[in-house]
Amino acid sequence: MKILKPLYHPRHKQIDTRGANERGYTYRWQQYAKQFLREHPLCARCEKEGVTEAAEVVDHIIPVRGPYDSLFWVASNHQALSARCHSIKTREDDAKLAQSSTYSTRVVIVYGLPASGKTTYVLNTMERGDIIVDMDRLAEAISGLPRHSRAETLLPFTASARDAIYARLRRPSDINTAWIITTDINAARRLSSEFGGSMVEMKVDEEERQRRIAMRNQDLGATGG
Ligand SMILES: [Zn+2]
Repeated sequence: MKILKPLYHPRHKQIDTRGANERGYTYRWQQYAKQFLREHPLCARCEKEGVTEAAEVVDHIIPVRGPYDSLFWVASNHQALSARCHSIKTREDDAKLAQSSTYSTRVVIVYGLPASGKTTYVLNTMERGDIIVDMDRLAEAISGLPRHSRAETLLPFTASARDAIYARLRRPSDINTAWIITTDINAARRLSSEFGGSMVEMKVDEEERQRRIAMRNQDLGATGG
């Protein structure tokens, strides 16, 4: 059984004066990082810009608070970066951490086009007891209709349910992480600045994405959605 620990309390950890070992960067991590860099030799950030640069550091995409953070060893939260990109990202992470200090729950915004793998990513990365804020799931919960069936009349209700969760997130809670799923990059940016949350972009090959959408529509047709 997984024990939930209140791991993420940025208001107590604004300045991290602990040594590398205490922060989790142990011999075990170094060995893991070496292997990870062999498998991912290029900087992920540069690659997104179409630039080829050698990776030197294994970065936590969503910043972690130490070895007991549920996201420390989760492979889907690791990326290879060059030293230059890592130092830029660390500065960005620190700025967000300062912003998020008024909230007790870590907020992660996962954005990307429909069928880009957002839900799969969250399910593979989250910890038991976290929450997912996703309009499709909320619509499914209140309507009994299959997901992605796009009942437009539900929209005001799902939006109200979502806003109630956002409002609750502004108050203290024992939830470690809230995962917000959206297709709207502007909404993602707004939420990130409001909650000081990390943004994770889901990208997938366009051909693969279209294939998934076709499969999804087939499933909905079969269930009468
Ligand atoms: Zn880079």
